[in-house]
Amino acid sequence: MEHQPSSVIPFIDLAAQQSRLGTRIQDAMARVLAHGQYILGPEIAEFETQLAAFCGVKHALSCASGTDALALVLAAKAVRPGDAVMCPAFTFCATAEVVAWLGATPIFVDSDPQTFNMDTNSLKAAVATARKQGMRPVGIIPVDLFGLTADYDAIAPIAAENNMFVLSDAAQSFGASWNGKRAGSFGLATATSFFPAKPLGCYGDGGAVMTDDCDLFAVMKSLRVHGQGSNKYDNVRIGMAARMDTLQAAILLEKLAIFGEEVEARQRVATRYSEALKDFAQVPYVPQGAQSVWAQYTLKVDAEKRTQVMERLKSKGIPTMVYYPIPLNKQTAYKHYPTAGNGIPVAERLAREVMSLPMHPYLTDDVQDYIIAEVRAALAA
Ligand SMILES: *Cc1c(COP(=O)(O)O)cnc(C)c1O
Repeated sequence: MEHQPSSVIPFIDLAAQQSRLGTRIQDAMARVLAHGQYILGPEIAEFETQLAAFCGVKHALSCASGTDALALVLAAKAVRPGDAVMCPAFTFCATAEVVAWLGATPIFVDSDPQTFNMDTNSLKAAVATARKQGMRPVGIIPVDLFGLTADYDAIAPIAAENNMFVLSDAAQSFGASWNGKRAGSFGLATATSFFPAKPLGCYGDGGAVMTDDCDLFAVMKSLRVHGQGSNKYDNVRIGMAARMDTLQAAILLEKLAIFGEEVEARQRVATRYSEALKDFAQVPYVPQGAQSVWAQYTLKVDAEKRTQVMERLKSKGIPTMVYYPIPLNKQTAYKHYPTAGNGIPVAERLAREVMSLPMHPYLTDDVQDYIIAEVRAALAA
């Protein structure tokens, strides 16, 4: 049956996921209420075990948010004033926020025009900029934007040459893979987020760090609970209150059980979009060997037409979003931080051209066909 635009189409559809899960979430929550271990209860340990296995790494540490996950790694690496950490300008603010929070300096790197991920030539320029300004370049935070893993093969040698760590910001790419390796297994450590709108989301805030480094893991585990030592009343370092709630772990365990199927459904939706829209706009580019998890399905459209296209779609009940309208180097809190030597023209252009369409595993063919027809019409108008 053809979709009738009687109501607004959801951008992501958590209600559809909830009805598919039936009473499993309520049952899981009821189990937590029954045992009463709200902080670091048994579901936390079980979720961490499953996370590590899913990503193919030794350790996973759950925490309170994706932002805290990034902060735990940087704090464990003792990032401090005078240090410079390279991160993209075209990302969510949290990537750079954690660097600034520790008193270090984020240096903004440009984006690749095809993948929208960190551009490696600009990365090299950013390291040179850090040195020229008298800072120590200590780390790189590549972001797997919109669900596509960054080019870690190209980033790793640059990190090694300069003795920098790689912290993967996989807040949008949990479930993605590259040549059979899952997001979560690249670099020294990976931070991810379970914010409700991410590919795997809980019902509140949540995050995790994945790593194969046992020492780093031990320090982060201490930092997560106020820097506690083996005697919990003798705190051995300045830490955080960064635990995940047991309730969120219980919810995530139920969602993780169906996540593999959801990743496949996302891929199917993305493939349908790309086949139908490739002659009308620049559709997402996925390099050979990569499998995106499609946190966003993002088109590049004519900058002059974008607002008009989005308004027309809105009038047809189709929500669209711009991730991200302002690169970090132009935002009030961040504009005094350096950008890579030759500037970041691609990131600035992407901010004017990108437009994301409704994307979730429960998008039906008829609703998607309606969206496709209206997007085509809006782009041709
Ligand atoms: C969502 C997001 C974060 C932060 O995650 P929270 O769980 O909201 O703290 C960090 N980086 C990127 C790229 C994100 O998309």
